[in-house]
This record gives sequence, structure tokens and C-alpha cells, in this order.
Amino acid sequence: MLVGGADLHLHSRHSDGTLRPARIVELAAGHGLEAVSLTDHDTVSGVEEALETGRRLGVRVLSGVELSAEFLGHEIHLLGYGFDPGDPVLLSALEGYRRERELRAERIVARLNHLGIPLRLEQVFEAADGGALGRPHLADALLRAGLVSSFQGAFDRYLNPGRPAFVSRMRFSLDQARQAIEGAGGLLVLAHPHLNLSSANIRLLAEEGIGGLETVHPKLKPSQSRELEELAERRGIPSTGGSDCHGPGRGPMCLGSLRVPLETVDRIEAALRGIGKRRARETAGAVHAGAGR
Ligand code: AMP
Ligand code: FE
Ligand code: FE
Ligand code: ZN
Repeated sequence: MLVGGADLHLHSRHSDGTLRPARIVELAAGHGLEAVSLTDHDTVSGVEEALETGRRLGVRVLSGVELSAEFLGHEIHLLGYGFDPGDPVLLSALEGYRRERELRAERIVARLNHLGIPLRLEQVFEAADGGALGRPHLADALLRAGLVSSFQGAFDRYLNPGRPAFVSRMRFSLDQARQAIEGAGGLLVLAHPHLNLSSANIRLLAEEGIGGLETVHPKLKPSQSRELEELAERRGIPSTGGSDCHGPGRGPMCLGSLRVPLETVDRIEAALRGIGKRRARETAGAVHAGAGR
């Protein structure tokens, strides 16, 4: 068994994963992990449960979320870490994105129906069970209704980009995502960089200001991880990582299969203190400028 370290990229039933947050933290403790972050898509509704379970079991839990955003016309994924999960501005931004996910599911179902696939929207909501609705729930619903023969088959035939029921999703701009995460006191990290961007665009994004880079992820090659580590080091920002595990029924059970050292969490927390100080200075500066007028 691997001992120690942190898995900072995990999904639960609150979005498109299959396990409850408490169960994830229990399994993490059982796998010898010292720290985790739950990074559900567009929701922080599982964070409290994870934090509470972590306190009970002695696992450090960092608040987390994964957002889709756009950079130079490319979809990118951003991770937020260490923010206040009760921040009202962040919560209302996320709610807007979840509402849009529902409208998009309606459009996907309409396309499927047009193709002669008799899936009903209620079946999709049932599969999502209150979690932020994503294509995996459409795949689950298609499978449960016997309309495809496998979860993966649903993506390959209908749901992947270029397939007939694909509908893209509304995305944050980089600035909106930064506002939402940093405004709630969090650190903004670029997730699995090479999945969406060329090396040149990753460097550009790093220059535009990103709080950290995910350098350890199952879809990154060792050479890409090394390149990202060097870039993070040059820019003096934390490098983060994790398994991006979605739980059983979503590929092999991979919680804790990829880890970063526990010091990563300390480094994230140090960066968060830096951001807090910078924002406090900016606010004080704004008040001062206002008073001078
Ligand atoms: P969505 O956020 O609704 O666009 O769905 C994206 C999620 O679907 C990702 O986070 C993955 O969990 C999953 N996913 C995307 N593409 C595939 C694929 N080809 N096969 C299986 N799962 C996928
Ligand atoms: Fe996912
Ligand atoms: Fe992602
Ligand atoms: Zn993810």
C-alpha cells in the first residue's frame, strides 16, 4: 500500500462521481492518504461533508471545485482550492452554471429523441440524483433504460464532441473564474493542462496569471509533468495533482492511485495567505483612493 501524500482531484455524487463525500474520505484514510480535496464540477455542496469527515478521521481536507472555462477559444478546466465554501458570490455563480447544465441536458435529450432514442429527461434527473448534471448522467440513464449496451458506448455513439447528441456547455471566462475563486479566498489552478492546451498556450496562460498548475494527473505523460513542474517552479507557484477519480462504475477505482506530497497542501496554504494579503492591500488601496476624492 502507498502511504502518505495527498490526492487533490476527486469527484463525488455531488457531480459526476459515484461515491458520497464521506465515503471518499473514509476510503482515503484507508488508503493511507494524509490529505484530499473534493473537486466536483460546478458545485461545492459536498465540501462540508468532506471537511467534517476529515476532521473525524484525521485526514486534511482542502475545499475544492472544478470549473470549465475558456482560454483563446479552447475549453480549459480550472481547479479552485482553499476557498470559503459558504461564499455567497461563488455559490450564486455556481448555481447559474448548474442551471445551465440542466438546460443543456434538455437539449441533449431532445437531440436523442430526434434520433429516435426514447430517453426521458426525468430518467436523466433520476440518474443525477441531485448532483450537478453532466454527460455521465446521460450515459447512466441511457444504460439503465437499455438504450445503449455500455456507459462508454453512450459517449462513443452519442455524447462525445462530433457525435450527434453532443451539446457544448457554457463556460467561464478566465477572469470570471478568477473572480469567483479568488473572491472567495481561493487559489486558481489549471487542471490537466496538456489535455486542452499546447505547451505554448500553457506558458501564455501562466503569464496571464494562474495560481498553480496541476502537474500530476492520469492523462499527463511523464515528460509533460516534468515540463509543467519546471514551469511552476520558474513562476514560483504550487504544482498540484491527483487521480481525478470518479468512483466505481466510472472506470477502475483509482482513489489515491496518483498522489502529491503532503507539502503541496502547505504550499497551497502559503499561496492562499499571499493572495489574502494582496487582496487586503487592494481593498485598502481602493478605500484609500475613495477617501482621497
Ligand atoms: P460534462 O461536464 O457534462 O461535459 O461531462 C464531462 C465529464 O464526462 C468529464 O468530467 C468526465 O467525467 C466524463 N467524460 C467526458 N468524456 C468522456 C468519455 N469519452 N468517456 C467517458 N467519460 C467521459
Ligand atoms: Fe467528470
Ligand atoms: Fe477536468
Ligand atoms: Zn476532474
